[in-house]
Amino acid sequence: MVPENKKKARKMDDLRLPRTGQCKWAEGTGGDYIFPCKNRAEPGVSYCAEHHALVYISAEERRRNRESRQQIGSHAAA
Ligand SMILES: [Zn+2]
Repeated sequence: MVPENKKKARKMDDLRLPRTGQCKWAEGTGGDYIFPCKNRAEPGVSYCAEHHALVYISAEERRRNRESRQQIGSHAAA
């Protein structure tokens, strides 16, 4: 008997994934996620317009930052 395991499974249940058509914007760390956005998402899209733009922009910026950083030189942080 390992009650710890059962506790963990219970927690996964508590994640409560957003419903179909609801924005899947997730917030949280360490595997503890919540879905605070109650906006509606377009069919076939994961996020509401607001968060979709956020995700798209941040991905673009990250790529751009990485590209410009590679030109400048190595950022030894690992
Ligand atoms: Zn949203």
